[in-house]
Amino acid sequence: LGELRAFFRVSGATGYNTNADTTCNERKRIMAIQAPEGTFDLLPGEAAFWDHFRATAFDTFARYGYHPIETPLFEQTDLFVRGIGEATDVVSKEMFTAISGGNMQKLLAGEKLKSKSRLSLRPEGTAGVVRAVVQHNLVPQGGAPAKLMYAGPMFRAERPQKGRLRQFRQVGIECLGAEEPTVDAEAIIMLMRFFVRIGIPAGDMRLLLNSMGCEKCRPAYREMVREFIRAHESEMCEECNRRADINPLRAFDCKNSECAAVMANAPKIIDHLCDDCREHYEAVKRYLDAAGIAYEEDSKLVRGLDYYTRTVFEVQVDNGMGSQNAIGGGGRYDKLAEEVGGRATPGLGFALGYERCVLALEAAGADTLVARGLDLFVVCVDDSARDRAFALVQACRDAGVQCDMDHQGRSVKSQFKLADKLGANFVMTLGPDELAAGEATLRNMLTHEERAVALDTVAAALSA
Ligand code: AMP
Repeated sequence: LGELRAFFRVSGATGYNTNADTTCNERKRIMAIQAPEGTFDLLPGEAAFWDHFRATAFDTFARYGYHPIETPLFEQTDLFVRGIGEATDVVSKEMFTAISGGNMQKLLAGEKLKSKSRLSLRPEGTAGVVRAVVQHNLVPQGGAPAKLMYAGPMFRAERPQKGRLRQFRQVGIECLGAEEPTVDAEAIIMLMRFFVRIGIPAGDMRLLLNSMGCEKCRPAYREMVREFIRAHESEMCEECNRRADINPLRAFDCKNSECAAVMANAPKIIDHLCDDCREHYEAVKRYLDAAGIAYEEDSKLVRGLDYYTRTVFEVQVDNGMGSQNAIGGGGRYDKLAEEVGGRATPGLGFALGYERCVLALEAAGADTLVARGLDLFVVCVDDSARDRAFALVQACRDAGVQCDMDHQGRSVKSQFKLADKLGANFVMTLGPDELAAGEATLRNMLTHEERAVALDTVAAALSA
């Protein structure tokens, strides 16, 4: 709080320097502001690829009956604390808290915020979607499952590195209201189909599969792992010893090589599943086998969030990824709806990371930029053509043609260069002769074919 106060004394209530007396010279000395650490801009060709990526994902998932949903970028902090779990890294260390101006004043005055005013930027999509399903009763008792898909930014205050950002994009699905293993298998098949469709070579991917058990069999297993860690206390890092008390299964994820060596001999959940969980897991594998989906069973796969039950899976890629090699993952969460205050509703979901997929695609030599394109560029020979050109491009746009003209008084030569740079398929040159004749030549920039077109019919000719 002290630091906050100091910050605000220096820069005023908004945190920005609003001093109206700032002179021109002072302004010049202000450094150009960069995007915050761990974030980056998607520039035009990249943003167009994100559009394509999301549209391809939604088109794939719609074939399986999924419908889009949009939830807020921030939620009550309690949702994540209750849903994801207080002991997870995501909640305990990585959440960005959102504080409105008014609430900041209250905090500075030493007041406590009501829980509905304690807000956090969403670190993942599942908790918000499940909250929406409960709030709007999207799975009425006995109703069909809600199959939902989303795409958008997530926020985690992690230490940025290759493939690990503070704002990143996820595309995900959630299926609530059905616990049959067909849902699990179908979602995994759909995820793998999407990855291949977007261009990640099947041979580059590894699908890991495990079951986390349920509230019947997991507590006893968790206790066994806790005992195991305690028995190897001296060989394991401080963090794992701390985890033994609150979240022992996370020790399977420890990057420390000595811990990993110890945990390789820890009891395996797969040997301790109850009959129902075993049957469910075997059925998921049967459906995957029948669909020809290759997977590796990995009993160390526990995934970072507390809410998983039964099936968990992760897709990893090694090429071009550094240490962050998971491009997507998910699992079943049959208790989550209750955790956030709803009726018992089984659920399953996955999320895939856009930026990591881009790394995987680039490593595979695939294109991750969508080239700029334009149907028509109108070149003006001189100013006398400008008004007619302005009206012509407008008529073309209204007819659905993507077109543009020069807005900077460039020479004819440089207008042609610009048309080329913008990727124009056709170029039309307008000057006094064309205006007098009421027609101009439409040049196909690829084939170099030319044809005369009446100025009034250009829009119709190009939109046909
Ligand atoms: P999770 O919600 O942790 O299961 O993450 C799902 C997917 O989102 C991962 O497989 C990654 O592809 C991606 N992802 C998670 N955290 C980050 C991050 N900090 N930066 C970039 N991508 C991430």
